[in-house]
Amino acid sequence: MSSETMREMLRGLDNTAGVSGRERAVGLKLREFLDGYCDESREDALGNFIFRKRGDGPKVLLAAHMDELGFVVSFIEENGMLRMVPAGWHDDRMVVDQDVLIHTRKGDLQGVTGSKPSHILTAEETSRAIPMKDIYIDVGTKSRAESEALGVHVGDVVSFDRAGHFLNGTDVYTGKSIDNRAGCAVMAEVMRRIAKEGGSRVDLYAAGTVQEELGFRGAGAVATRVQPDYALILDVALAGGSPDIPENLLPIKLGAGAAVTVYHWWNDGPWGNSVPQSLVDGIVGAAETNGIPCQLDVTMGTATDGYPIATSGQGVLTGGISIPTRYIHTAVGILDFRDVCAAADLTTAWIRSLG
Ligand SMILES: [Zn+2]
Repeated sequence: MSSETMREMLRGLDNTAGVSGRERAVGLKLREFLDGYCDESREDALGNFIFRKRGDGPKVLLAAHMDELGFVVSFIEENGMLRMVPAGWHDDRMVVDQDVLIHTRKGDLQGVTGSKPSHILTAEETSRAIPMKDIYIDVGTKSRAESEALGVHVGDVVSFDRAGHFLNGTDVYTGKSIDNRAGCAVMAEVMRRIAKEGGSRVDLYAAGTVQEELGFRGAGAVATRVQPDYALILDVALAGGSPDIPENLLPIKLGAGAAVTVYHWWNDGPWGNSVPQSLVDGIVGAAETNGIPCQLDVTMGTATDGYPIATSGQGVLTGGISIPTRYIHTAVGILDFRDVCAAADLTTAWIRSLG
């Protein structure tokens, strides 16, 4: 499979809008990319998309969450401006002064997130991030009736409006939703490779899951349905490598290979995944045997769909392979495409090592 195809899949997925709870357009993109490369495709009641390439070996589930951070319109002001609440956990510093799209039943509307000008803020206000309650979406209208006539309703979702692109001819890509369209692109690529090139007997499932950013709400249902022998989460990992981050705090680097999940724990709750030693060793062994660059991922304050999948049913052996990213949970996330390739190579090699 050419890396050009995977670049196109990454761009196509990243430039699709799929805020948590409204991921269908992303699922349809995955279905388009996997057309002809799988035996079954279904959409469940929650909106998870599940694809299957049949085999007579162990049952393996790849899972990549399809949703991206966004907002939900909560109120339309008298003057036409929209108020919103978060869909997913935002970095508050990133919310204001952005181009956004409001996804209405009549189609997409353009807007910007605004707030009071800095000239009239108090000293206290300038010293902190602007809370979301003090931010509004301006859609160019002057009255509630005018906004409603454009098609806005309370409950419409809002996404960042930003076209992803490679920076200056480098392998570095920036996009609004590389968390987790990068994982979705890797998942599609792996299924295409296994379908086209073979080399494995596994009964392979690939799931685009929903509402991960709202608390891993979709993946558990997929695991309950599939009951896999193994699951592998494809997501993004926090990378350091900038001058203000000590290497011992975030040692994962862009361009240094796929990040193999060893230990994630969100320390103010139960969420996380301590990957069984045998599984870590199997994945790292596949990397060593095939000369694929990888790095070990031990990160606090983070969790993935690995939590609900590992703890589903009678328990599932669940690991993870992630793409290192900077500026995570902002509209300007950055990754190195070579790590996307390494993640696809390693996932394919690990699947083939299972038989
Ligand atoms: Zn993610």
